[in-house]
Amino acid sequence: MQTVAILGRPNVGKSSIFNRLAGRKIAIVDDTPGVTRDRKEVEAEIGGIPVTLIDTAGLEEAAPETLAGRMTASSDAALRQADLVLFVIDCRTGLTAADRAFANWLRRADVPVLLLANKAEGRLGIQNAMEAYELGLGDPIPVSAEHGDGFGTLHDEVRDHLQKEPRGQRGERERPLRLAIVGRPNAGKSTLLNTLLGEERMITGPEPGLTRDAIAVQIRDEVGPIRLVDTAGLRKQARIEKDLEKMSTGASIAALKEAEVVILVIDALLGMEEQDLRIARLAEREGRACVIAFNKWDAVEDRAATRKKLDDVLTFSLAQMKGIMVVPISAANGRGIDRLLPAVREVHDLWNRRIGTGELNRWFEVMKDRHQPPLVEGKRIKLRYATMPKARPPTIAVFGTRAEMLPEDYRRYLVNSFREKFDMPGVPIRLNLRGTD
Ligand code: GDP
Ligand code: GDP
Repeated sequence: MQTVAILGRPNVGKSSIFNRLAGRKIAIVDDTPGVTRDRKEVEAEIGGIPVTLIDTAGLEEAAPETLAGRMTASSDAALRQADLVLFVIDCRTGLTAADRAFANWLRRADVPVLLLANKAEGRLGIQNAMEAYELGLGDPIPVSAEHGDGFGTLHDEVRDHLQKEPRGQRGERERPLRLAIVGRPNAGKSTLLNTLLGEERMITGPEPGLTRDAIAVQIRDEVGPIRLVDTAGLRKQARIEKDLEKMSTGASIAALKEAEVVILVIDALLGMEEQDLRIARLAEREGRACVIAFNKWDAVEDRAATRKKLDDVLTFSLAQMKGIMVVPISAANGRGIDRLLPAVREVHDLWNRRIGTGELNRWFEVMKDRHQPPLVEGKRIKLRYATMPKARPPTIAVFGTRAEMLPEDYRRYLVNSFREKFDMPGVPIRLNLRGTD
């Protein structure tokens, strides 16, 4: 099993992150007292990969008073074993000398590092998180351990890093697509799940997962395995949770954070309402790709009007999901189901897609020519070039003088035209702005 260690100076939120990743229900398997005082070690599942997770909170107090002493203590305890380090900074206090010293030391250590900018709740938080870029440890991942924001991305990044390890035997081809079926109560999630399980070959039955009290089931379509994560339907089936009332939206949200693709089940008889929009927006915010299953199509009388109503809601209330794939289905009798998983595969491919720098900048030049960035506080913003540092979800980095001051509507303009140009409906797009001199 590979080991992931959480490092950082005191109070940045290491324990909070540890607890979120480990899950409430996980027993502490090794709580060694002594030199490593408060060190906690648990077995957890991150991004679908079983790992040993080490929290180093408390190490600092046990170590000698000097900065160097602290780092040595941390290094001895955790780095020795780590296959991956999660280095945490607090983006509300900003970078400190201790953070920088830690970062320098980590850059020299021969261990891959993910940089977590914690306490990044809210728009300002994410803005501050980007400051950590200067530590030279790659793109900061904004998270909020308190609110649970950004953990979907974190799971993905950890998985990507651990899978790069040569000793891992997991073939890329056999890596399951993680799918969640979400929606409000009575939309037809359980029915859809049962239909999917009936039609596709089930590989493993409902089983308690390692993270939290999640349950997952694995099926296979013609492309490969699909892991259905933690959906309310699964919970019902496995009778894990007694209190069915509480499961609805809460469980959907948990499932969504673990998934790569989300099927949002909408009851076509009721249409898309506020609760559905909330889930869709959350999927977008968490960077999940999304497909709508427009269910109970068999019972709809005026199909044209029903479809038009949905399109209107999508246009006016969910612009960020423009062009999202809508598959009318009848979960109960199986109609339309054969188009659902191909749609999931398609949006998953788009979500994974990388655009080359050349192609990206040809688009970027056209966009800049079409609309100049406006003056902000009397100053000109000069955008230079764009790169795509990562996919899953597609992320564009834009560099330029005062780029970080780019107003919201110009950002939207870039993101929307990118989605259109590269044909990525239903795929969330991230935009990172990097000021340069
Ligand atoms: P550690 O010393 O690095 O393990 O930090 P802790 O996990 O004990 O957290 C230190 C303090 O930061 C606590 O008061 C937490 O409640 C708070 N904290 C942790 N994560 C967040 C977060 O995402 N947002 C905010 N606002 N506070 C947080
Ligand atoms: P969940 O709460 O989202 O898991 O919803 P269920 O799967 O339990 O379904 C809620 C209700 O909708 C049940 O009475 C189902 O029989 C009904 N239902 C589900 N799918 C369909 C469908 O395709 N057509 C019709 N007419 N009813 C459906």
